[in-house]
Amino acid sequence: MDVTKIKQWLELFTVKVNAEKAYLSDLDGAIGDGDHGMNMARGTTAMQEALLEKNPETAADIFKVAGMTLVSKVGGASGPLYGSAFISMAKAATSSEDMAEILAAGLEGIQKRGKAEVGEKTMVDTWAPSIEALKNDELTADKITEIVNATKDIKATKGRASYLGDRSIGHLDPGAVSSGYLFATLLEAEVV
Ligand code: ADP
Ligand code: MG
Ligand code: MG
Repeated sequence: MDVTKIKQWLELFTVKVNAEKAYLSDLDGAIGDGDHGMNMARGTTAMQEALLEKNPETAADIFKVAGMTLVSKVGGASGPLYGSAFISMAKAATSSEDMAEILAAGLEGIQKRGKAEVGEKTMVDTWAPSIEALKNDELTADKITEIVNATKDIKATKGRASYLGDRSIGHLDPGAVSSGYLFATLLEAEVV
């Protein structure tokens, strides 16, 4: 695996999340408690600092540092969920170089912790179809936008947005949007 590209990926993700911090929190304000941008900006910034300080030299170690930092630095649901994703990806990366396989392990980590299935208006609705597209060699920036936009029509049945019931329909899921940035920057950094 190209360790430089993986580091570049996580740096681009951090920059994107920080640039869209207000937007992500606005999205969360509509169907949650308005802190998703803040949570993710804090977490990714701490992740980036930890990566620079510890300078891990394998993909597995990079994902491990990322996951541990996200779990400890992000309050809210998204920290443990993204953290579980990266920790599971770290484990997978010790025996695989296939990014789709590694991301699939990440999705398993998210689902093990959060118990959400596809169609519940969560980040799972970005991860699952994006990984599927990647496996079929069909993952593009446009495809990711399409996947993320599809969360608008879903009624939330997991997470804070589920408290709104039908009123969650018509709004993008903030975690699905931030996960869209993760997959878009994966392409930008040419990891896949
Ligand atoms: P909180 O809801 O605790 O304030 P955030 O606002 O940072 O945390 O994150 C909210 C996002 O977390 C949601 O938009 C959704 O994508 C994701 N999420 C919440 N619960 C779950 C779950 N059980 N499984 C997967 N993702 C979830
Ligand atoms: Mg929130
Ligand atoms: Mg919160």
